Amino acid sequence: MTTKYPVLLDVCTGCCACYNICPTNAISMVEDSEGFLYPKIDAITCTECKLCDKVCPEIKEDKDNQKEKFKKAYYGWHIDDSIRKQSSSGGVFSAISDSVLANGGVVYGAAFDTLNRNVFHTSTDKINLSALRKSKYAQSFIGYSFRELKSDLNKNRTSFFVGTPCQIVGLQAYLKKDYPDLLTGDVICHGIPSVKILKNHIEYYENKFHVKIINIDFRPKTNGWPNVALWFECENGQVFEIPHHFDAYFSAYFSNLTLRKSCYNCRHFLQQHAADITIADYWGYKDYDKKINDKKGLSLILVNSEKGELILNSTQHLTFKNMDWKYGSYVFKMHNNEKDLKNRNLFLKSVLSKGLQKSVLKFKLIGRWKSRLIFFIKKKYINKIIWNKLLNIVPKK
Ligand SMILES: Cc1cc2nc3c(=O)[nH]c(=O)nc-3n(C[C@H](O)[C@H](O)[C@H](O)COP(=O)(O)OP(=O)(O)OC[C@H]3O[C@@H](n4cnc5c(N)ncnc54)[C@H](O)[C@@H]3O)c2cc1C
Ligand code: SF4
Ligand code: SF4
Ligand code: SF4
Repeated sequence: MTTKYPVLLDVCTGCCACYNICPTNAISMVEDSEGFLYPKIDAITCTECKLCDKVCPEIKEDKDNQKEKFKKAYYGWHIDDSIRKQSSSGGVFSAISDSVLANGGVVYGAAFDTLNRNVFHTSTDKINLSALRKSKYAQSFIGYSFRELKSDLNKNRTSFFVGTPCQIVGLQAYLKKDYPDLLTGDVICHGIPSVKILKNHIEYYENKFHVKIINIDFRPKTNGWPNVALWFECENGQVFEIPHHFDAYFSAYFSNLTLRKSCYNCRHFLQQHAADITIADYWGYKDYDKKINDKKGLSLILVNSEKGELILNSTQHLTFKNMDWKYGSYVFKMHNNEKDLKNRNLFLKSVLSKGLQKSVLKFKLIGRWKSRLIFFIKKKYINKIIWNKLLNIVPKK
């Protein structure tokens, strides 16, 4: 990596495999101007062992994924409605985690650090499972969680590690071999923005509403599933829910304008994933059977290994049904491309100089009628009335 790093910049996913493998801790993950983390080598502590070069999945050829894999598709949901409500889709992540934890195992996933406004990978040894639930639409920092997981595996502890597909590929490169006690899960991922953009966005709402935000949720199910909105809770007890059409962060995210550079040329879009189990919102249910949507949340479950199939079948808290692979394989399609990357570079340049709100309007990301609405919302005299109605503001307790 010492020599290839500058070339790698656009394809580096930030998976942290190099960061975890370095025997002298010579690598730090450093934020670039857009807020994405990239490895940086300290020349003094680096011994030039080249382990980082060898581990990097973006340097190596992806031979594994060219092999024919085990393939099974299911849709399903957690049997407990309250857990299902606390999950992004059907709560499959929690159902599998329940089984792992019941056997004294450990679960790794992404949590939101409300104090520092950060998204990071951690485990149920340090945090409740509830903190790992739900999609956080900003890149999670892996930290040294690969090393911690390896230590759990060396103690023969059943472990379930969930992340984005590139993080799982990084994990497998770091571990170098399969461990019988390890189950990996990944999500269908169309890309990831940086935490910096999210942080600035939270501050924007704090200044706008004169509040201190203490908790956020990207997938509140206040109006059932599918409901994608930015929900946040404030120190004074107020709760805000901003539908994704009216939120600049979501508008830019769904327009693929705030993603990491590597997301525009991501091989995981197109092929079956490396994890044992892939989970997603089952947005494609209509092609299978429209009647299965009870608005509580449906997960698509793609099983990519026999180990994944065994665990799924032993999971007690899950209702799931098998279907033909073709009803799930719609997820393997290219979303982003070179043209999107050019637009993204222009957009993020604008965000850095003008901020997210102005850039969203400049790039006309919110449709004309919505722009007009926002223009009016900005007028002070109707500000409160409209925002209160539109954003579902709950008054101070
Ligand atoms: C960034 C991102 C983009 C996604 N894009 C799509 C999509 O385009 N189409 C689709 O069908 N599904 C997408 N998903 C998956 C979907 O939103 C749900 O995460 C999935 O259906 C699992 O839901 P659940 O109800 O089983 O569990 P949940 O309780 O919602 O579990 C979510 C799981 O994802 C992990 N996770 C959450 N945020 C992150 C993060 N930032 N980085 C790494 N891991 C994280 C959690 O640790 C947990 O394991 C995406 C998820 C993420 C995180
Ligand atoms: S190992 Fe991961 S974080 Fe390190 S350079 Fe390669 S892609 Fe980037
Ligand atoms: S060459 Fe070896 S010591 Fe140097 S950064 Fe890479 S892994 Fe660390
Ligand atoms: S789109 Fe690809 S590179 Fe980007 S976060 Fe998802 S898996 Fe990683």
